[in-house]
Amino acid sequence: MSLKLYNTLSRKVEEFHPQDAENVKIYTCGPTVYARAHIGNLCSYIYWGLLVAVLEADGMRPQRVLNFTDVGHLTSDGDTGEDKLERGAKRENKTVWEVAEYYEELFMRDYNSLFLEMPAKICKATDYIEADKQMIDILTEKGYTYETSDGIYFDTSKFPKYAEFARLDLDHLKAGARVGFNSEKRNVSDFALWKFIQPGEDHAMKWEYRGREGYPGWHIECSVISHEELGEPLDIHCGGIDHIPVHHTNEIAQTEAAYGVKMCNFWLHCNFITIDGQKISKSLGNTYSLDDLFKRGFSPLDFKMWVLQGHYLGERNFSFEDLEAAKNRRLNWKNRVALAMQKENNDEKTLEQVTDVDAPELKVLEEKLVGDAEFVHGFMDKLNDNLNSPEAFALIDNSEISLKGWKMVEKVFRLGLFDFKVPADEQLEKMRLRNEARENGDYGLADRLRDELLDDGFLMLDTDAGSFWQLCK
Ligand code: AMP
Ligand code: ZN
Repeated sequence: MSLKLYNTLSRKVEEFHPQDAENVKIYTCGPTVYARAHIGNLCSYIYWGLLVAVLEADGMRPQRVLNFTDVGHLTSDGDTGEDKLERGAKRENKTVWEVAEYYEELFMRDYNSLFLEMPAKICKATDYIEADKQMIDILTEKGYTYETSDGIYFDTSKFPKYAEFARLDLDHLKAGARVGFNSEKRNVSDFALWKFIQPGEDHAMKWEYRGREGYPGWHIECSVISHEELGEPLDIHCGGIDHIPVHHTNEIAQTEAAYGVKMCNFWLHCNFITIDGQKISKSLGNTYSLDDLFKRGFSPLDFKMWVLQGHYLGERNFSFEDLEAAKNRRLNWKNRVALAMQKENNDEKTLEQVTDVDAPELKVLEEKLVGDAEFVHGFMDKLNDNLNSPEAFALIDNSEISLKGWKMVEKVFRLGLFDFKVPADEQLEKMRLRNEARENGDYGLADRLRDELLDDGFLMLDTDAGSFWQLCK
């Protein structure tokens, strides 16, 4: 089955074909680096990590660009409020540059602890200021901008398909515009390409443009970075659903007005999570970071397991009970990997011992070692069906999987399923002695050895096919 994805542009699941499979151009809107990412923020990077892995498993080569928003993202998605970076600097008594650097590092730590593949390139908004100005100049030459006392705005009435992407009802928006709405704006949906610093305004990040000091609006960076680094049309642009009505709508307007080309062929948006039925917010005290989960005994990969148990388009509710269940499911998978390893080790030994048996018997043994082509096929079908990770998970739960199959699972999901401590020689010896004691009917000794192994972190599993070790945690 070829890959199908839900395209926000058409509101349909469509077959995905990149322009060049050797260079699949993907742009992901990245974090605003003014605070530690909470678990909601991290969901999208987990899902887009899955997207990249599925493209790779399908034989394509993704070239993904991620940005760091280190300037211009105001506390309101309209163009009002404080710059989030400036707010972070005041809160922490640091410079804006120090704040950005600190949270970029923390983000990368979180990112790596989730075993997410590095993007081909990570770009900071502040490294593209000159390119921002050039793009605003182009938009100005083409008649899409106007100046007010506080900035340079994009005139959305000049871009007739502005409302299309998000299916916006502009009349409704106008009617609902808040009191205090910037009266110099020509249309309620117009947005700032550049903001001028006002007399008395304390804004540390500033650049000279059109004879005044100012800084870029939030949306321009993504149009500029994706243009400079990848070029239009992008194959895939991804972000959270909150980006549809404002940020991505504005990106499309800027890019398509400036360059007269389609910005992107596929737009992917992941849904939001709630926590215990409530939205994530500081006032509710539920802005958990990965460290907060770790303090409660959960690894970042348990959280990743929880995220991938759900579909990227579905609304999800997070609870610690469900995280516990995901943690147990992950341990169960690790134990199945451990079991597959031990069984296949045994099989390999058997294979060595039977080199002079009849050819048909040997063939049966070989087939056992590579016997899950059917599983791998079914597994990829689920993922190619609009990244259906929950169904792929269910298939894993219900299939016999060889070590080779588990390697495939790990390659796509990167859940650390092969990262566990294996018994040292001393423990292997205890296992051997325990088996011997059981065979001799010395159950006292066998039980004592079993308890010692349990203290070492290994639980003995006795089956018809023999005794195997499993992990306790
Ligand atoms: P920010 O770093 O503030 O720009 O946030 C990054 C992104 O995190 C947002 O734009 C959303 O797409 C995403 N996000 C924020 N809250 C949630 C949530 N509760 N669930 C899923 N994604 C979220
Ligand atoms: Zn963006």
